[in-house]
Amino acid sequence: MRTRLHPLESDFVRDQLALRAVTANQVRTQPEGDYVLYWMQSTHRFEENWALRQAILHADRLGKPLLVHQGLDPTYEHASDRIHTVILENAVALHRRAARLGFSYQFVLRRRRDDDRRAVDRLAARAALVVTDRFPTAGIAERTARFVERAPCRVDLVESHGIVPCGAFVKEEFAARTIRPKIAKLLELALEPVEERPAARALPDAVWRSLDVDRLDLARVDVAAEVARCEIDHTVWPVPFASGLDGARARLAHFCRTALADYAERRNEPADVDGSSRLSPWLHFGQISAAEVLRTVRDAGHTESAAKFQDELVTWRELAFNFCLRNPEHGKLKGLPEWVHRTMAAHKDDPREAIYTREQLEYAETHDALWNAAQREMVTTGHMHNVVRMLWGKSTLLWTARYKHALEHLIHLNNKWALDGRDPSSYGGIQWCFGKFDRPWFDKPVWGLIRPQSLQRAREKFDAETYIRRHATPLR
Ligand SMILES: Cc1cc2nc3c(=O)[nH]c(=O)nc-3n(C[C@H](O)[C@H](O)[C@H](O)COP(=O)(O)OP(=O)(O)OC[C@H]3O[C@@H](n4cnc5c(N)ncnc54)[C@H](O)[C@@H]3O)c2cc1C
Repeated sequence: MRTRLHPLESDFVRDQLALRAVTANQVRTQPEGDYVLYWMQSTHRFEENWALRQAILHADRLGKPLLVHQGLDPTYEHASDRIHTVILENAVALHRRAARLGFSYQFVLRRRRDDDRRAVDRLAARAALVVTDRFPTAGIAERTARFVERAPCRVDLVESHGIVPCGAFVKEEFAARTIRPKIAKLLELALEPVEERPAARALPDAVWRSLDVDRLDLARVDVAAEVARCEIDHTVWPVPFASGLDGARARLAHFCRTALADYAERRNEPADVDGSSRLSPWLHFGQISAAEVLRTVRDAGHTESAAKFQDELVTWRELAFNFCLRNPEHGKLKGLPEWVHRTMAAHKDDPREAIYTREQLEYAETHDALWNAAQREMVTTGHMHNVVRMLWGKSTLLWTARYKHALEHLIHLNNKWALDGRDPSSYGGIQWCFGKFDRPWFDKPVWGLIRPQSLQRAREKFDAETYIRRHATPLR
């Protein structure tokens, strides 16, 4: 692994950005603009943030300062105390880091739905150019597309989600086995570290003070009080979570120290809370880069476990991102392969062993104690272990009158309650339960040719009783 940093102005950075960035409109850069604006939407960090790197390069080329803007609205789907708290607590940490690292960072909180919604438009009106994150889920692609329509200057969209740039895979990949060898060819180069630095020019105080937006005072903010004031779902309460890069690094260090050596086995035991990294929420909010996670895991040794971990973190995570970026139907049955549609059509009227409403599922009121425990784990902790998550998704497929309802319930529940929800991996994981990325199996009632999984049989493979006991408290 290269230890010398690539300078920001290097060919290496230019080549990586060519595969991560697209210019979204035909509007020209505004030479009279006061600054370059980086609108931070999905990558909530200053380190290994390719959109930020692109914005710094533009700012220096144009001789402008850089303004980093982040906003939080009450209008995104599933806006709740749980998600708002994670974002706001991280913003407080970013504010402190920004002062240390030399970034001009500001945060605008729109509390009520009828509050002023156009902060980003007013900031863009004074910008030479806007850079923002390229992200296919959590409503970000749609919000960005609406903004691009109205933007008065050039808008660049830049992806920072994957280690290998998304532009290396221009079509929708078929399965893990098709993307894995392509990733293998590009991964080592993509992991090479780059110098981190702010833009050459600082934002002048006069410009900073004249910005026509109501900035949140992150030095003094009371996060819980602010969240309580927002017009969001207060029934989804915050869960303990060390939001921010420091929390992510502490969790990563703990994982490398205590669990990485046995990751390949321990990740299959849901009763073992510390058997996997549990980094998915930090990765989802972009608080830590996947590249930093992988380098740290490799440095910790345990080559075999690190390879298994890499396959999850890179192959499966980037396959899910590719699916959501390249397939606009990723949230619908339409996103599934043809063979799944044929088999579903053949089995759509098969008798179901049970049919549950969304409310019964949400309150974990099914006949199966293991399924209920998984749902309760997610509602009460914001996390669901990977092994039970597969069973949770697969079983739900059996318990609705139509496959479409099962898919909609799963997306709703996952995205509402999981801290890592609304992510490309949410759609990749849920659609995998319906046959995405998989091959046809043997024909069975209701399943058709979709790979079956049995809650009953799973009980023989891990310590289900301890897991069930841990999540036994009814939700109402
Ligand atoms: C029905 C269902 C729903 C899912 N919903 C989500 C979701 O909302 N958000 C989410 O991040 N993941 C989701 N996954 C994938 C996976 O379950 C989680 O990423 C994993 O359990 C997170 O735990 P961890 O951080 O301890 O993972 P680890 O085993 O420590 O893996 C490290 C990282 O690799 C990535 N990863 C691991 N497994 C997968 C996978 N199968 N697909 C894609 N990326 C993976 C995650 O970013 C994870 O943090 C879902 C899977 C299923 C079957």
